[in-house]
Amino acid sequence: MDPIFDLIKQETERQRKQVQLIPSENFISEEVKSALGSDLSNKYAEGYPGKRYYQGNKIVDEIEQLAIDRGKKLFGVPHLNVQPYSGSPANMAVLVGLLEHGGKFYGMQLSAGGHLTHGHPGVTFSGKYFQSMQYGVNEEGKIDYEKMAQDVEREKPKLIFVGATAYPWILEWEKFSRMAKSVNAWLVADVSHIAGLIVGGVHPDPAPFVDIITSTTHKTLRGPRGAIIGVTENGLAKDPEAAKKIDKSVFPGLQGGPHLNNIAAMAVAFEEASRPEFKKYAEQIVKNSIVLAQTLKSEGLKVLGTENHLMLIDVGEGMGKEVAQRLEENDIIVNKNTIPNEQGSPFRPSGLRIGTPAMTTRGWVEKDFEELGKRMAQIIKK
Ligand SMILES: *Cc1c(COP(=O)(O)O)cnc(C)c1O
Repeated sequence: MDPIFDLIKQETERQRKQVQLIPSENFISEEVKSALGSDLSNKYAEGYPGKRYYQGNKIVDEIEQLAIDRGKKLFGVPHLNVQPYSGSPANMAVLVGLLEHGGKFYGMQLSAGGHLTHGHPGVTFSGKYFQSMQYGVNEEGKIDYEKMAQDVEREKPKLIFVGATAYPWILEWEKFSRMAKSVNAWLVADVSHIAGLIVGGVHPDPAPFVDIITSTTHKTLRGPRGAIIGVTENGLAKDPEAAKKIDKSVFPGLQGGPHLNNIAAMAVAFEEASRPEFKKYAEQIVKNSIVLAQTLKSEGLKVLGTENHLMLIDVGEGMGKEVAQRLEENDIIVNKNTIPNEQGSPFRPSGLRIGTPAMTTRGWVEKDFEELGKRMAQIIKK
């Protein structure tokens, strides 16, 4: 047998045996997996349902349309594109579709919890081919809305990205909306991390406040790797061409054929996320997160958070990597991360990033996380 299958088996065992706490990871259902591993992977379908460049697309048109319809309902948007290959290409499609080359936009600093695609200077397309400005967080690790509003007023960016990979607090969409409106900027909510919490009703919904929503589908939403771009009623009111601009930017602007197996798996995940059980799942993620943070705090650790699915722990200057390794030796998987106002470096950061979505899928509840918190504290303090 091809050794790759033995390696896959080993990885499945690793995922089951260890405690998985990386906040961007999750466990997909067997149904999602079966759509992902289907014959849809064989088909080419450049274009959109009803407007393809290849023959033989009658069935995949229905599949993509179903994914679009379910996703529109789930995210509460009048227009949805389900073709982006992943979160980074989705964000690229938004910037390329809505801004001129070199256009000015605003995004959260990587070190404050933002994403590379939100304008990280030097190394990313978003920082190299656009004029990116970055906002950070205050001493408490929170967005300073007043300062940000003043900066927006002064700099007048054409677009504002809101969304993060390591921000343990609620995002206040209404405040961002006021800032964006004051300078007529596009407001984009990148809800990759929190999509499952939003559709599960435990994080405020950006749809009434923003113009564009981007999201990966594989984090708290618990679907396949992939991404969506939604255009809201506000977005269409701001520019009636917004939906067309986004679609053209994805294809033919940046991508070729859509990954139909992923799109079918997305449709399955959207249906799962619209069930009442998913609401309970989302609620449990946050309950577990709060209990874990409280336990770690009561053990004397410096915890930042939490109001959502994740938290940061300050484990001492430059110590993140070493402590993450020690936890791995004890079968607890987390990742090293910068903390707000980091004194170390991105390679030797001072924090750990920890989240509850994956183990909540496995059925863990408060008492499991309390026990885990005590064990983790012992290992961290060693
Ligand atoms: C994960 C994430 C992305 C990127 O997704 P990839 O699928 O890894 O490219 C973009 N933005 C945010 C906020 C994310 O959390």
